Amino acid sequence: MTEIEAFPSSYRVARERLLEAVSRVSTRLPVLVDSRSLMTRGPDGETLALDFIVLGARQPTRALVVSSGTHGGEGYLGSAVQLLVAQRLLPSLVLAPDQAVILLHAINPYGYAWHRRVNEDNIDLNRNFRQDFDPTACHPDYVELYDVMNPTDLDPEREKSRWARLDEFITRHGMRHFQQVFSEGQYRFPAGLQFGGQAQARSTRHLLSLVSEYFVSAKSLSWLDFHTGLGESGACELISGAVPTDPGLHYAQSIWSDPVRSAAGGESLSTPLHGLLDRGIAGALPAGCRFGMAFAEYGTHPLDRVTRALRADNWLHHHGDRNDPVGREIDAEMIEAFCPASPDWRQQTARHGVGLVEQALATLSRPVRADG
Ligand SMILES: [Zn+2]
Repeated sequence: MTEIEAFPSSYRVARERLLEAVSRVSTRLPVLVDSRSLMTRGPDGETLALDFIVLGARQPTRALVVSSGTHGGEGYLGSAVQLLVAQRLLPSLVLAPDQAVILLHAINPYGYAWHRRVNEDNIDLNRNFRQDFDPTACHPDYVELYDVMNPTDLDPEREKSRWARLDEFITRHGMRHFQQVFSEGQYRFPAGLQFGGQAQARSTRHLLSLVSEYFVSAKSLSWLDFHTGLGESGACELISGAVPTDPGLHYAQSIWSDPVRSAAGGESLSTPLHGLLDRGIAGALPAGCRFGMAFAEYGTHPLDRVTRALRADNWLHHHGDRNDPVGREIDAEMIEAFCPASPDWRQQTARHGVGLVEQALATLSRPVRADG
């Protein structure tokens, strides 16, 4: 199967193909599939589930996790990489008795199936990994821009004046500040963009349970979580939510040849964000476990186009009709914004992603050092 063929046409197809591919390696590797489903269904009535596919030890000391679909509709690339790993790397993979490789498919299966970045409650899961929620927490400039970013209609005249207000804001404060305001996560407006939730979402609780159940004996864990939509088209940035002094960041930097950049330290294309998944996992692991994680973020289209797609999608979900021509156009643009149809883009990103997994597999067998 080529990289391009590995891209699925939908969440349902991605799930079916991956489960089938891992069942084929079960003759030579122990395989356990632990599926945690949501209470809701996909557009074809299909089950929506986080599939935690363990290859090797059930309570590993050393493990690598490759995950997809934290941001729902960003999941196509992660699924393609997971399928290629299952087909190309797993058949010859040799694991020590205490090691495991885990493919975690679709952390946000609802968003994946419905082509949304957020979950069934409009929550961005990668802002939802926190213990405390303050329902008033929101950047003051987000409050000021709320109507501009979360319109209740698409009336052309009103839209013109909203975009003019936004242009004025960006001219006054800069694009980086707008990105910070827009993307850091807000906890006040459930129908607004970048809502981080007011409690842990079901997917968040599922993921944290899986981490505490399976990694109770873990001494060393590496983790790659695939994302799309930020950066130059086709380019990858490895991003960490850890602060620059965190030993976990240094461990992550030792795994991959590409640099791993701290969003919290202002080194990344991503501005500092609240409630990140890697921080939630770090808090759920046993004390002393060495943990190196990176969000592998691949650029698709310019930030302005991606932002417009997200804004329109949020309008569609709350105020539009997915089945009318406007709704269908917005839906198609969401797919293109996060998974470009370009064969070159697909080949380049999936090939690079498999390479990242190969590098992490190579370090899986490195001895665990006390200084890590
Ligand atoms: Zn993402």
